[in-house]
Amino acid sequence: MKAAVLYEVDGEPTVTDIDVVDPGADQVRVRLAATGVCHSDLSLAQGRLRHQFPVVLGHEGAGRVIAVGERVDTLSVGDHVVLNWSPACRECWYCQHGEPYLCERAERGWHRPHARLADGTDVYPGLGVGGFATETVVDAAACIPVPADIPLTEAALLGCAVLTGIGAVRNAARVRPGESVVVFGLGGVGLSAVQGARLAGAGRIIAVDPSAEKAELALRTGATDAVEPGADVAKRIRALCDGRGADHAIECVGRADTIRAAWSSTRRGGHTTVVGMGSKTDELRFNALEVTHFARSLQGCMYGSADPAVDITYLLDRYRAGELDLRAMVTSEIDLTEVGAAFERLARGTGARTVVVFPDDSE
Ligand SMILES: [Zn+2]
Ligand SMILES: [Zn+2]
Repeated sequence: MKAAVLYEVDGEPTVTDIDVVDPGADQVRVRLAATGVCHSDLSLAQGRLRHQFPVVLGHEGAGRVIAVGERVDTLSVGDHVVLNWSPACRECWYCQHGEPYLCERAERGWHRPHARLADGTDVYPGLGVGGFATETVVDAAACIPVPADIPLTEAALLGCAVLTGIGAVRNAARVRPGESVVVFGLGGVGLSAVQGARLAGAGRIIAVDPSAEKAELALRTGATDAVEPGADVAKRIRALCDGRGADHAIECVGRADTIRAAWSSTRRGGHTTVVGMGSKTDELRFNALEVTHFARSLQGCMYGSADPAVDITYLLDRYRAGELDLRAMVTSEIDLTEVGAAFERLARGTGARTVVVFPDDSE
């Protein structure tokens, strides 16, 4: 099996032969059809998020089940699945209290080698998925079955960007019809948040990103206005929203300055939901008066505050109804040898979603 293996922080993903282990009793082997390249892959590659090496990154995948472990009774060989990088255990305190996206054991698959190099070295699956490879082995709980007529290249996006972006709007911000929404950062997650705002019936939907190409994509998929970032961006957004500010800001960048701008662009009593994964050393400042005076709220959101088992069904319904445009978000399709180039595009902020498409997709 071929995989884009990363041997060290800041290394170059290198296509290498790996041997994926046989599935354990509760695991399945999946042949990947498509895996999206997500900003978190870049954060892992650059060491901002920690992981064990060597690693096969790629956590936004979809494919077909090709073998099942002896205790697996929920999946069969041939099933089409979307992979879930945060599978809930259904037993911990968070799972028992309706917050499976905060599951204490969601990372259980991240630290377990799933393959070996030719010399016997253990290889780890990125965020438990290991999607930049022709095959992987994951817990059955990390597989969400999808109907066979859904194209797997589009379905892959449901596993991270779309679930996260639309979930932030629906489950965390709980945008209501007619409300105004501003989205900062138009990668796969931000563009999904724009579509989520449209699906929620939002009134004004303002998209903020320095890339004209991505702003154009946002306008095509649901944004009513595009605004360039800059020092006075919050003031310009408030002006567009009757001088008061937006009801909701969705921050998909993960930087203190954009979180601050997002918060300042909302009205008194407005809500900011932060989805972007930031760094420990990037500090956010508020003065003690403005917190109460503006009565705004600021919340973080993990994995779209979603339960993928439920939310992916909702997203598939919207897709089938022609209300969710997954195709528009895919700006390049590549093969495994081009993962490094896709990381460079992500670092430069060009293009929306790049998807690694595997050749045996038509099987
Ligand atoms: Zn992701
Ligand atoms: Zn749990």
